[in-house]
Amino acid sequence: MTLTATAEDASFDPHTGERTGAVPHSTADDVSRILRRANGAAPVLATLSPAIREGWLAAAAAAVLAASAELVDLARSETGLGLARLEGELARMAASARFYGAVAREGSYLAVSRDDLDGESSIVRGNFPVGVVGVFGASNFPFGFGIFGHDVASALAAGCPVVVKAHPAHPRLSVRLAQVVRDALAAAGAPEGTFDVVVGFDSGLQLVDSPLIRAVAFTGSQQAGMALVERGTRRGIPVFAEMGTVNPVFVTPAAATDRDVIARGFVDSFTLGAGQFCTKPGLILVPAGHGFVDSIAASVARVASAPLLTAGIAAAYRSGLAELDPHTAPEPQPAGYEVAPRVISASLDELAPGSRMLDECFGPVAVVAEYGTVANALAALDRLQPSLAGSVFSGAEGDEDAVAAIAQLAQRVGRVAVNAWPTGVATTWSQQHGGPWPATSRPDATSVGAAGLARFVRPVSLQNATSIQLPLMLQPQNPWNLPRRLNGRLVPCE
Ligand code: NAP
Repeated sequence: MTLTATAEDASFDPHTGERTGAVPHSTADDVSRILRRANGAAPVLATLSPAIREGWLAAAAAAVLAASAELVDLARSETGLGLARLEGELARMAASARFYGAVAREGSYLAVSRDDLDGESSIVRGNFPVGVVGVFGASNFPFGFGIFGHDVASALAAGCPVVVKAHPAHPRLSVRLAQVVRDALAAAGAPEGTFDVVVGFDSGLQLVDSPLIRAVAFTGSQQAGMALVERGTRRGIPVFAEMGTVNPVFVTPAAATDRDVIARGFVDSFTLGAGQFCTKPGLILVPAGHGFVDSIAASVARVASAPLLTAGIAAAYRSGLAELDPHTAPEPQPAGYEVAPRVISASLDELAPGSRMLDECFGPVAVVAEYGTVANALAALDRLQPSLAGSVFSGAEGDEDAVAAIAQLAQRVGRVAVNAWPTGVATTWSQQHGGPWPATSRPDATSVGAAGLARFVRPVSLQNATSIQLPLMLQPQNPWNLPRRLNGRLVPCE
């Protein structure tokens, strides 16, 4: 990348607010060059076997693990997140990259099928990579949803070159991590253009507007996500936006015997990473008369202040608190982006359409609402925005209120966690990290888990093509040893 631009993404220490460096924005020429290289790599990636791409992803995962100390150090200085959290996130990023490679090699995402129409003609169908994918990472997961996070690794696994836009919350980490990944992919044999990074707001817009970009994956706020969805929709490309909402928790009356454990778990979960999780439980509905409000308040009082990621996120948190609770005096503003956790009490009636309590407030704050009857609580759950995840805390097996709440939440969220908090998202075959709008722009998609590859492929049928005219994945000899559906019958790989 030629760095000749004058504008830059500055880097700040969230503990002090001091500027620690900067990364120049990519120029429009840089972005065009990167896109052309990526477009040149697309047909190469599309024709190589998934097993080869699995090898590239494993090589890149090994390289980031080898550079872990340096990368975590950079991430700490730019995000203010803790050492253990960042080390764990980096290790999970590497494991996820290997997982997506293995999913690609297994091959069921290609959905290969073949039908013999009559004695002489046939039709085959399979999923082809869409081409170059543009990725926008989030501020709050510099590794997990960043330069080599879920979107990037699953797009590469699916056979698509990726151009990722660096998030300005951690610009120095972004360019260094991109360099580590790019070098490792090249050393493993990936063609030039397989992966690159661009820096700056305008570079992001140029990606979405470029005819060479065939799909966009975004993780971040509703405002930015919807702006990009509208922009991409104008030229008919899919924009998979994973956004932020209020993830609800419902505690049944029978679960109230575990009050203090649930209260502590709730506070731990909504203050994790200073509340900067898209899966943060932002609202808990608890049975009245069991002392939940006091127990939660006592737990919150034991949690220390922590810095948020950026000055903008800290300012948005403070103004969000003032909107959620206009009667509370503003707290003194410490150095850096540090804020204190807060819990806000509300009545069920306040959880009505238009209420600020139904919108995410990014940071360590959550709302607790007591309910009188389960029916009223379930009605309140129905008034919330659909979200990424929700939790139900139930009593013993056979708690019918839990059964009703799980069924109801499943209509409105991507994942229901039972007697567990929504903040942990495992990278597995059965994971669904998505949900109906406004949690995402595509309720059929997930940004975590094996099904994430489906965002970056497109089905094509070929009729009456001879073996040599077919791409390798569709050839009758099955050279990639893929599971297939032959004349309607599912045939596993050998
Ligand atoms: P953000 O403010 O939404 O920005 C994300 C990216 O989009 C940045 O690179 C930003 O570039 C760019 N952008 C912003 N507005 C844009 C516009 N109008 N047009 C084009 N590009 C634009 O990011 P964030 O601070 O990371 O957002 C935090 C949110 O992410 C929270 O709501 C959280 O819940 C959500 N989140 C969701 C998930 C999930 O999986 N669903 C995961 C993590 C976080 P510039 O900064 O250069 O403007």
